[in-house]
Amino acid sequence: MERLAEEIKGNIHRVKERIARAALRAGRDPDEIKLVAVSKSFGLEHIRAAIASGITILGENKVQEAHQKIPHIEAGVSWHMVGHLQSNKAKRAAELFDMIHSIDRLSIAEKLNRHLAALSKRMEVLIQVDLAEEETKFGIPEAELEELVKRVGEMENLTLKGLMIMPPFFSNPEDGRPYFQRLRQLLARLNRRGVVSSELKELSMGMSHDFEVAIEEGATMVRVGTAIFGPREE
Ligand SMILES: *Cc1c(COP(=O)(O)O)cnc(C)c1O
Repeated sequence: MERLAEEIKGNIHRVKERIARAALRAGRDPDEIKLVAVSKSFGLEHIRAAIASGITILGENKVQEAHQKIPHIEAGVSWHMVGHLQSNKAKRAAELFDMIHSIDRLSIAEKLNRHLAALSKRMEVLIQVDLAEEETKFGIPEAELEELVKRVGEMENLTLKGLMIMPPFFSNPEDGRPYFQRLRQLLARLNRRGVVSSELKELSMGMSHDFEVAIEEGATMVRVGTAIFGPREE
C-alpha cells in the first residue's frame, strides 16, 4: 500500500515536470495547463493516492464505473467525463460529473441540458472533434462543428469551454501533431467568427504518450492515465 502511494506520487511528480518542460519549450506558463488524472480501471486506493499527491481533477470514461467510485471519494476534487457518452447515461452523467469533454452530437447535448435543468445545475462541457473520419472514433466531423458549437453555446445549463480531440494512436507521438494543430486552428476560427458570445479557451488534448506534443501545440488540459497510474489490465 505504501509502495503504491509512493509510486503514484513519483509518477505525478515526473508528469508535472514533463508538462512544465514542454510548456517552457513552447514559451507557455506551465500553470495554464490542467492535469486530468484518468483513473479508469483503477480503484479507490489509487485514486486516493493520487489526490494525496496533489491531483485535483480526475477523469473517467464510463459512467457506470464512475458511479461506483465518485460517491466514495471525499469532496474537493472535480470529476471529468472523458469517454463517449451514451444517451441512456446522460441523466447519471449530469448528476455525477463536473465537466464533460466528449459532447459529440446535438442529441446528447440536449439530453444533458434537460437533466441538468432538472437538477438546477450548470456544467462545463467541451465538444469532441473527429478529424480522422476513416477511424471509428467518436467526435463531430469538422464540417458540422460550427453548427454544434452554436447550438450548445445557446443551452442554458451547459457552459461551452472549448474542444477536445483523441487522435488515432500513433507509436510516434509526432504523428499526432497535425491533429493538435488543427484543433487549435478550429478553436481560433470559432472565436474569430464569434460563434459563441464568450471566448472558447480550452483545448483538451494529449494523453500519456503524446501530451508534450499537445502542450507544444496549445493544450490547456491533458488527460493522463498510464503515466500516473501505470498500465491498465484490459
Ligand atoms: C484512457 C483515456 C485517456 C488516458 O490515456 P493514457 O494513454 O492512459 O494516458 C485519455 N483520454 C481518454 C478519452 C481516455 O479514454
